[in-house]
Amino acid sequence: PRLANQIAAGEVVERPASVVKELLENSLDAGATRIQIDIAKGGHQLIKIRDNGTGVAKEELTLALSRHATSKVSTLDDLEAITSMGFRGEALASISSVARLSFTSRTADQTEAWCAKAEGREMEVQLSPASHPQGTTVEVADLFFNTPARRRFLRTEKTEFTHIDEVVKRIALARKDVAITLTHNGKPVRQFRSGDSEAAISKRLQTVFGPSFLEGAIEVESVHHDMHLRGWIARPDSCRITNDYQYCYVNGRVMRDKLINHAIRQAYDERLGSDLHPVFLLYFDIDPRQVDVNVHPAKHEVRFHQSRLVHDYIYQVLHQALATSMQ
Ligand code: ADP
Ligand code: MG
Repeated sequence: PRLANQIAAGEVVERPASVVKELLENSLDAGATRIQIDIAKGGHQLIKIRDNGTGVAKEELTLALSRHATSKVSTLDDLEAITSMGFRGEALASISSVARLSFTSRTADQTEAWCAKAEGREMEVQLSPASHPQGTTVEVADLFFNTPARRRFLRTEKTEFTHIDEVVKRIALARKDVAITLTHNGKPVRQFRSGDSEAAISKRLQTVFGPSFLEGAIEVESVHHDMHLRGWIARPDSCRITNDYQYCYVNGRVMRDKLINHAIRQAYDERLGSDLHPVFLLYFDIDPRQVDVNVHPAKHEVRFHQSRLVHDYIYQVLHQALATSMQ
């Protein structure tokens, strides 16, 4: 099983940031409202994620660490309208095949926590009693210790941490209801407090985009039938942003979608000229039955059934918003 899992890991686990993404999504799927992420040495030495979600019962721990074990898809209907982020049942098995993984968990109705470790060539799972409040802590140590070829692809500690930070920021912007903290080598790096108040939201935006983003950004809010587009767009010069900040969410999931990007680009080109780099944070929501989500974990791709309609809608809303801002 280890080899099969390592092959699968090639798809899921590209670098420490991909591990963080999978674990974070699992915590969110488990309904966590507080997530603490501790990283050591760019994630190569240790990735530790602790949540206060539902936890996994002792008798299901072994299954959770094995391949194609997912608790998240039970009917065809689920597949058509996937709302939880993970649904493949491969992440934990893949990660544990290329690192030392421990999974400690307690459910609400258990009095004791249990820790599971997958070890050895056959990856049998060892269970031992542990101490933990309701929720889960996953520790991933020595990533790629047994796959030297992959280990060589790791960049510097700083670069790998930057990728992790990016994953955390993208998720933090989608889930304002969840408190998230991030530390690196014991030092606090990010702290996102939960809350839907104006102040909490603008704090999150400032943490990610910098203090002057909201001054230079144009707010977008539009509903049309089952489509809802909201967020902010900006000219990079007016909000003094140097990086390419392009954040797009489809039904709450981080997406890099060609069709949406094209619509945004077109609105910018026509209003501001093609030399300006769009800066945006957009949330697009649509009836989930109107979207296919590519099951490939690394791609973040969607396909809209009525792609023309989606494209033109987004283009028109942004075109209008940019026009208003120029008056
Ligand atoms: P998937 O997320 O695709 O189902 P994973 O390999 O990521 O597959 O996780 C396997 C299973 O382990 C999940 O379906 C879930 O039941 C359980 N699990 C993983 N992480 C957590 C967590 N943080 N809290 C509760 N359950 C979890
Ligand atoms: Mg998962």
